[in-house]
This record gives sequence, C-alpha cells and structure tokens, in this order.
Amino acid sequence: MTSDAQPTLPFETRLSVVLSLLQAQMGAKVSTNASVCEAHSHGEAYQIAHMPAAVVFAQSTADVAAVLKVCHANHVPVVAFGAGTSVEGHVTPLEGGISLDLSRMTDVLAVNAADLDCRVQAGITRQSLNALLRDTGLFFPVDPGGEATIGGMCATRASGTAAVHYGTMKENVLGLTAVMANGEVIQTGGRVRKSSTGYDLTSLLVGSEGTLGIITEVQLRLHGLPEQISAAVCQFETLDDAVNTAVEIIQMGIPITRVELLDAVQMQACIAFSNLTEFKPLTTLFFEFSGAPEAVREQISLTQSLATENNGLAFAWAETADERNRLWKARHNAFWAIKAQNPGKQLVSTDCIVPISQLTELINGVRQDIAASGLYASILGHVGDGNFHTIIATEDTPEGYQQALALDRKIVARALSLHGSCSGEHGVGVGKLEFLETEHGPEALSVMRALKATLDPRNILNPGKLLPSGPIYHG
Ligand SMILES: Cc1cc2nc3c(=O)[nH]c(=O)nc-3n(C[C@H](O)[C@H](O)[C@H](O)COP(=O)(O)OP(=O)(O)OC[C@H]3O[C@@H](n4cnc5c(N)ncnc54)[C@H](O)[C@@H]3O)c2cc1C
Repeated sequence: MTSDAQPTLPFETRLSVVLSLLQAQMGAKVSTNASVCEAHSHGEAYQIAHMPAAVVFAQSTADVAAVLKVCHANHVPVVAFGAGTSVEGHVTPLEGGISLDLSRMTDVLAVNAADLDCRVQAGITRQSLNALLRDTGLFFPVDPGGEATIGGMCATRASGTAAVHYGTMKENVLGLTAVMANGEVIQTGGRVRKSSTGYDLTSLLVGSEGTLGIITEVQLRLHGLPEQISAAVCQFETLDDAVNTAVEIIQMGIPITRVELLDAVQMQACIAFSNLTEFKPLTTLFFEFSGAPEAVREQISLTQSLATENNGLAFAWAETADERNRLWKARHNAFWAIKAQNPGKQLVSTDCIVPISQLTELINGVRQDIAASGLYASILGHVGDGNFHTIIATEDTPEGYQQALALDRKIVARALSLHGSCSGEHGVGVGKLEFLETEHGPEALSVMRALKATLDPRNILNPGKLLPSGPIYHG
C-alpha cells in the first residue's frame, strides 16, 4: 500500500454508495437505527460524541473484510467497536462513516490446554472467556475494569489489576488475524512462545487502536489457576506510607499477584457503594498472593513486615473465594462508586504511569494539584506497575470539563517530567493526542506517521485517533 489519490465524489455521495452496497451484501447486519447509532457514537467517561452513518454487526472475518473493501474503495471511515468501554474518545466516529461492531464475534475457536493457549474471535469479553475456561484449570488474567472485548483490549494494549504479575495484552497475545484497510486478511505471530522471524506485526497491531487494521481473531496465552490464592487489605493513616509499601514490595521482588491502591476519597466511595462497612475511609492497599502454599506464605510474611514498617494497620483477610471476589468486585466498581457519590456530575478518569521509584513523588504532587484545583477527585491504581488513575468529578458543563482537563494536564506534565508516560493502559484516543510528541519525540512520531500512511493510505481506519496529524501523514 502506498500514498493514494484523493476521492473525486463528495463524501455524502460516497457514503450513500457504501450504505447501498453494504445493505445489499449484509442485509440485517447493517443498522441505521438512531438509538443503535447513538450507542456507537461515544465510549465511556468522555464527553465527545459523533454519530456514525450506520453500524455494521460483523459475524466473521469475511464480514469485516467485506466492509473494509467497500469503505476503502469509497474512502469512507470505519471505526471498530468492541464493547465501547474505552475512556479517551477512541470509538467516536469523528468523521462519521461506519461503526464496525465486533461484539457478535464471540466464538472460542480452540483451547490448547497442553500448550496453555487458546484462539478466540475478537468480540468475546474476558469475563465470558474465563467462564468458558472454568473447567480447564486455565484462565486469562488481563482484567480491565469494564466488560471489555478481547479485540478492544488488544487494540488499547489494555492491562488491569493483575498486570504486575501476568503482564498486559502485549505479553499475552501470541498472534492475530487482522483485516487491513484495503480488506486484505493477514495472520500474525502464531502459537509459539517466541519467534525471531520478521517484523513483529502482532506487537504493531496490539495498541494500534483500530488505526492500522481490524483484529478478528486472537491467539492468547493462558495461565494455570494457582494452587492457592489469598487476598488481604491493609489500611494506612497516610498516603505516603501506603505508596512506599507498594514501591518496596516491587523493589524487593516479591512476586505479588495484585497490589492496588485506593486513597481515602476512593475508599469512602467504595465503602458506601459496595457496603465495605468493615473498613475505614483511609488510604488502602488491596493485595492478592498466589502460587504454591509455601510460596504464598513467604510472600505474605514479607509483605506484612513491609506494611508494618510503614505503619500499616492490621491485615484484614478475605478467607473465602466469595469474600475475595467481593473485595475485587468492589475494586473493579471503583469508578461507579465515585459516580454514585457524585450524582449529576461528569467524571474524567485520568491515567499515567512512572517508573516505580518516582511513584511517591508523583502521587504527592498530584494530591497537591487536586487540593489546589478545589475539585473532588480520587486516586486509585495499579501501583505495583507505577500506574494510577485520578477520577475527577466536575459539573456537567463545558467549563466543568475544562477544569477537569486542566487538572489532568498538570498530572500528565508531572508524570512526563518524571520519565513516565501519559497513559499506562487507557491509550491515546483523542484525549491524549497532544502529549504524543513530548513523550515520543518528533522523529519517532514521523516513523509512526509513515507506518500509518503505508498501511492506511486513505486514512479510513479510525481517523483522528492515536496520531496527531503532521508531516508525511496529515490525518
Ligand atoms: C470502569 C472502567 C474501568 C476500566 N479499567 C481499565 C483498566 O483497569 N485497565 C485498562 O487497560 N483499561 C480500563 N478501562 C478502559 C477499557 O475497558 C479498555 O480500554 C478496554 O480495553 C476497551 O475494550 P473495549 O472492547 O470496550 O473496546 P472499545 O472501547 O470498543 O474500543 C477501544 C479501541 O479499540 C478499537 N477496537 C475495538 N475492537 C477492535 C478490534 N477488534 N480490532 C481493532 N480495533 C478495535 C476501537 O476502534 C477503539 O479505538 C476501564 C474502563 C472503564 C469504563
């Protein structure tokens, strides 16, 4: 694929050609219903919305290829849609066109228990996959908070609470089937754990936010269910003590499965929302330890001594699987807990990450920024990775949104000045576009633009996302 001539017909004419062709080829899989289009006009927690002209519900790789061929021929944008849980405006069809919904592609195509891998269609959610794997003794560990699809998780290079132990989507995808902008289907990677052949197209597509190709099948690494899992909660009088405990756990190399921080504001909201009445509204670390019983005992003992040295209160243990699930469900519902505390307000969920040694300095700075802003905001996150979120509640007005954005910009500036990234897991979408050049530098950005121009010369794949326009590729 190389650079391409501009279309001659007006957009509306090309769009109506596309709609007639798709309706003829795909029938009821194409919807122009207003409420269906509205549901595909935005993701979560972000105020931008733009209606697609139609939503196509793909059921196979062939369906996706058919849509892309027609849209490519007519220069009409296509935005892949998984579950729409992304938070940086990723799924909004900024230029209209087609929203290509993959949520009906939910088949598990193969489970290779002996090799600890499986192949799934891109629209299956991680929760459904794990429910289907239950009897195999295997599971898929990457767990973003929403009911996200595996394809959407690949496209955002998602992670979650267990990434500190099991890695992110980057480490857990072995290969893909993807449809390129012109409708060609490619296979990347395979079933082996490593390969030193060719460019790593799997890694290129993982994290590409639907801008380079549309993923239809994914080969995933699976993991054995641990022999023992123990979960505990430890509360701290100060934020510093909690963050230092988490940092020291990682620096000591304790192979903890999860270590999540909720500050006092977040904990107060979770206590109310998830009925965690046994806890106080204090800064809290949620821990999970797993492995062979002896290894778990050792992890617990080391973690408890670090927490004690940092003035942690007594550990509260989740003794049963039900109690453990209740705690982690409360953690996963943190966003909704803040929403419930702030009825009628809009929420902005920020995301940044720094090397673990910089985490205490960053979080302290962010606490000061929040205080100076006068806004209600909580801090929570996957502190074992150096990654955390601030959930900011503001008036549901353009001015309120600008206030939240101003705070977010301060947080990102702090993270970048501490050798961090403007997003550890949510991705760029449109919300983080302005930071890409600072983070990656103009030369690396030129390489990214050259890749985009080569693989999607007509700029039909999720235009306006991930890559700020600039030389070579103008977006
Ligand atoms: C309450 C809450 C908590 C969250 N917690 C986390 C968290 O802990 N960690 C985390 O990483 N994220 C988190 N997220 C964000 C979100 O869940 C992730 O970004 C998730 O990976 C998005 O998956 P999705 O299926 O909803 O994708 P969508 O939102 O539908 O799409 C996301 C992007 O991927 C593209 N895309 C979707 N499917 C495909 C495909 N098959 N091929 C190519 N491109 C595709 C879309 O065009 C879009 O650019 C959270 C969100 C919410 C609402």
